Formats: sequence, C-alpha cells, structure tokens
Amino acid sequence: MSGAMQDLFDLSGQTAIVTGANTGIGQGIAVALAQAGAAIAAVGRSSMAQTQAMVEAAGAPFLEITADLGSTEPVARIVAETLAWRGRIDVLVNNAGIIRRADSLDFTEQDWDDVMNVNLKSGFFLSQAVARHMLGRAGGGRIINIASLLSFQGGIRIPSYTASKSGLAGLTRLLACEWAGKGVNVNAIAPGYFVTNNTEALREDPVRSEQILARIPAGRWGEPSDIGGAAVFLASRAAAYVHGVVLPVDGGWLAR
Ligand code: NAP
Repeated sequence: MSGAMQDLFDLSGQTAIVTGANTGIGQGIAVALAQAGAAIAAVGRSSMAQTQAMVEAAGAPFLEITADLGSTEPVARIVAETLAWRGRIDVLVNNAGIIRRADSLDFTEQDWDDVMNVNLKSGFFLSQAVARHMLGRAGGGRIINIASLLSFQGGIRIPSYTASKSGLAGLTRLLACEWAGKGVNVNAIAPGYFVTNNTEALREDPVRSEQILARIPAGRWGEPSDIGGAAVFLASRAAAYVHGVVLPVDGGWLAR
C-alpha cells in the first residue's frame, strides 16, 4: 500500500471515546482504532482491564471512564474527563447497548425505558455534548453509532430494541444533515449476528441459533474482530465525504 493511502486511514494523534468498550463489539472497535493510532477513552460500568491491555499492546494511550449510561447524568463528565486527558475528541463511538426479550403483549414499561435510555437517549445527548466541542474547532470530528439489523428489520420479541435501533438510524441521518456542512461526519454501523453477550440467549437456543446461521450467506456468526475495519474507515479521512450512512457488517444477511 502506498504511503498516501496509509495516511488516509491513519488515526495517529487522535482521541476516540468508545462506550461499552469492556467487551464484545465495543472492545473490537476500541482495539482497531488503537491499532490505527488513536488514543482510547473507554467508557462503561464494568472493568476495562482486558481492553486496556489490548489497547496498550497496540501502543496506544488508554483512559478508563467509569459511567452508567442508563441515564444522561455522566454525559458532561465523560466529555470533561476526556478533554482534561488529551485536550481533544476526534471520534465518538456510541456502542453501549442493551436488549430485553419478551412477547410484545407482555412487554413491561421498565424494559421499554431501560433500553431506550441506554441505546437512544444517552447516545443522543453524548453526541450533542461531544459535537459542541467538535463543531467549535478546525478539525471537526466523527460520530459512529452502533445500529443493528433491527434498524432495517422488525424482528420478534424485542420491541424496545427494534424501536431504539430504528430510531438510532433516523438520528444518524438527522445529525448528518445538521452537521455535515460543519465538519462533523455522523454515520452508523449495523452489525449482523455477532458472538457477544448480547446474543448469548439466541446462541443457547438450538432452534433459533440454527435458523440464524442458515440465513447468513457468509456461513458463520461475526466475531468482534470483524467490525473494527468499518469503524476505522468511518473514523478516518478516507470517509471524509461519507455522511448519514448505516453500514451493514453482517455476513450478507441483508442482501438475502
Ligand atoms: P455486549 O457484550 O452486551 O456489549 C454491550 C456493551 O454495552 C457492554 O460493554 C455493556 O457493559 C455496555 N452497556 C450496557 N448498558 C450500559 C450502561 N447502562 N452503561 C454503560 N455501559 C453499558 O454486546 P455487544 O454485541 O458487544 O453490543 C455492543 C453494541 O452492538 C450494542 O449497541 C448492541 O445493540 C449492538 N449490536 C450487537 C449485535 C450482536 O449480534 N451482538 C448486533 C447488532 C448490534 P457491561 O458489560 O457492563 O454490561
């Protein structure tokens, strides 16, 4: 690869906030951004020790920010702590998310509110707080929302999850329209079926797990290491003219 093309994807000197970076897709993204050169501020409610070791092994600086994104209370502190650490925020990855499963007839208000708060509300207000910093400076920035196949499809037994991820796709387009002309790119990645805590119940159900696998053209579930390249692309100068897309990384599921 030529140096010019390598430069396009180089994130050296940049700082990325990744929420829910302790495990799964968030961890895969944090490590990939670190391998591309970015310093990682990892936000979440569980220990980030494993992610810290992986990011530092990639030679990147690491900061752990303990925060529960079930409410917007920590939003201002997340931005303040990252700015105190590095003086800049170049990339925000809104990855933290939860899922609750029950038939719609039995679905509780608690399971509605909990999912909407983490998956949609906190992501919006963190984007708002980070964009106030990004919009006011020369370099602009990148916001990457972690959407889902349920941003495109209905699914079953996950009403608040589908509502939140469909909402997140809409929000990605709206924020792109407001900020594209001001140097901030807002895009999303829609992972297919990945082997993480989020899909543990599905993978433990032999019938559902087989049905899902049979429908994936790539013939396998995704691994956290499958997602990082898309995040590096959207965070990099290579994606300078990419705004408002929801990029599936799904082994071909949506093409079926
Ligand atoms: P995961 O292992 O369950 O990861 C979810 C992450 O969100 C964890 O780091 C979790 O922290 C964090 N989180 C949840 N609630 C939080 C809260 N209140 N405050 C702070 N952090 C919180 O599953 P995953 O698959 O990697 O999920 C990551 C994202 O990908 C989610 O947005 C999910 O909806 C999306 N996604 C996953 C798939 C899939 O097939 N796995 C497909 C499409 C989209 P804890 O470990 O502390 O709970």
